[in-house]
Amino acid sequence: MLRLKELINYDTNNGPGMRLSIWFSGCTNHCPGCWAKDTWDYYHGVPLRDKIPDINALMDVNDGVSLLGGDPLCCVFNHPEDVGELVRLLEDIKARDKSIWVWTGYTVNELYTIPTSIFNQIFGNIDYLVVGRFIQEKRDLTLKWRGSSNQRIVRPSPVTKDKAFRNHIFLDVTDKCDNGELDWE
Ligand code: SF4
Repeated sequence: MLRLKELINYDTNNGPGMRLSIWFSGCTNHCPGCWAKDTWDYYHGVPLRDKIPDINALMDVNDGVSLLGGDPLCCVFNHPEDVGELVRLLEDIKARDKSIWVWTGYTVNELYTIPTSIFNQIFGNIDYLVVGRFIQEKRDLTLKWRGSSNQRIVRPSPVTKDKAFRNHIFLDVTDKCDNGELDWE
């Protein structure tokens, strides 16, 4: 069962525009210097399913939805029994035509190890990800939407919309983001 630390409404700090932020419990990355150690415990917090009515109501009054933690993709690597719950959430958000941003400590290469069918279900619904562990020595408070300079902003290529194949790539849009060259969804 997925659990949440909290919901934040009208969040302007995590992604473009005004967003509903959903903070997940559970992270096994354990980055030194992590500012959210209270989110590491997968079993801490409120069950996601108890918050679905709130999420449905709040996402309609925001431009998009951001998933943070903890690590929203923790279940994919550690609790496969909960992946279906995550996919249902992503599909429900997209059904309301809201953009989805996800912050994960996993790297692009680690995400590529996810089995094809699960990969496509997840990343076919996500618009942008901020990926990579937080590295204290590379901490930079001037960076947009990321804490250390090794972290990247990527978006799944349109190819991932094809459910049959896993010939997708993550497009690195970090520089475009920093240069203000992106039209955000
Ligand atoms: S991935 Fe994020 S929440 Fe997890 S340990 Fe690293 S900084 Fe903390």
